[in-house]
Amino acid sequence: MKSKDNVFCDKNMNNWFSSMFEGYAFHELIIDDSGKPINYRYLDINNAYEKMMGVNRAQVIGKTATEICDKEEDILLEAYAYVALQGKPLQFESYSKKLNKYFRISAYSPQEGRFITFITDITDLKKAEDTFRMHHILFENAQDIILYINKSGDIITANRNALQVYGYTLEEIKKLKISDLRHYTTMDTFQDEMKKADENGVIFESLHVKKDGTVFPVEVSVKGTLINNERIRMHIIRDITQRKKSEEKILYLANHDILTGVANRGYLMKQIDNIIEQGNIAHEKFALMLFDIDKFKPINDIYGHNAGDQILKTTSNAIRNTLRKNDVFGRYGGDEFVIVQPFIKDKEDVKVLVRRIMSSLKTPMNVSENEFNISISLGISIFPDDGKDKKELLFCADSAMYEVKRRGGNGFNFNKH
Ligand code: GH3
Ligand code: MG
Repeated sequence: MKSKDNVFCDKNMNNWFSSMFEGYAFHELIIDDSGKPINYRYLDINNAYEKMMGVNRAQVIGKTATEICDKEEDILLEAYAYVALQGKPLQFESYSKKLNKYFRISAYSPQEGRFITFITDITDLKKAEDTFRMHHILFENAQDIILYINKSGDIITANRNALQVYGYTLEEIKKLKISDLRHYTTMDTFQDEMKKADENGVIFESLHVKKDGTVFPVEVSVKGTLINNERIRMHIIRDITQRKKSEEKILYLANHDILTGVANRGYLMKQIDNIIEQGNIAHEKFALMLFDIDKFKPINDIYGHNAGDQILKTTSNAIRNTLRKNDVFGRYGGDEFVIVQPFIKDKEDVKVLVRRIMSSLKTPMNVSENEFNISISLGISIFPDDGKDKKELLFCADSAMYEVKRRGGNGFNFNKH
């Protein structure tokens, strides 16, 4: 290639091209006898092109595309032939497998049969786009709620699941603050949670509110990050309604007697301990009642175990209906139950409740097509008069109950100290 043939070989032009950040290459189309473009030749390249493509000027100039490029590389002959022969510019993106780089190529034709390419390395941009696309797929398809919140607490954006769960449109939710989605009772811990989020990230449980006012439990994971010099907090939120229900169910089963639904022995003991603690602090008296069903064994023996179970259920239900919210009621074992009546002034308070309990059993019970008249023997101990711990109180109540049994049952008795 003689320099006079190169219309771009003007010295000033060459200086200009060589100092460009964009890659520049000047080519000549090679056409066969039938007029068909078959290749193109490199007439000139600049420094940026050498760097970008990892080639050396001396190795490239005068060579054809097929000599320089690997066989599997797409030499884009069709596009360049169009530019060189039609005189129309083209701009497109191209990927080089060999270099693992993306390029934006602008091709122009300065004279028929020749073309210039300006090449920009857009690999970083493409990677950022890919990352953004991947993030967007995760963001939109996540099973969790995702919210982006700025430092003032404004909701910047929300994913599809967030809109579905809270019931807002994207426009509506973007006008809200995160505090609008939180239940007002959870706001006292907000500042502390956001401080932790900005430090190392934080996970906590909270209550959120939907557009229709429904309140639901959530687990929230928040991490703060800097985006474009602005502190953004990413909230990943999970509706834990089902988990809470399961936890409640497990807790209920762990603490209650399956047959009667009252507190089981373990939970009963814990509750008695709590009441003793409160009683010690507030100097309050309470009554502990221990009762046992009279002549229960013969019911089992004559009518069967199922009938016995029904009697246990019906008896405990009848008695439970006579109690107040603060009273404790639990199954001590077999046909023995314990009631704790807190905040009593004197024995009269206790007698009132005991009479209510006794009269709740006056109505005969219909079980397995038979009528049963159930009675109980009930012993009472008073905290702190009869004992300072549950062992002493239970022992005294048991002795008092035994005395009723000894007298033939169906009655109550206070511990005599
Ligand atoms: P007393 O009048 O002296 O209280 O005598 P009792 O016949 O009631 O007999 P006791 O209290 O000594 O024994 C209670 C019986 O309750 C013994 C046991 O077979 C029965 N029992 C214990 N747990 C259950 C239960 O879950 N279901 C049924 N059906 N029976 C039970
Ligand atoms: Mg009994």
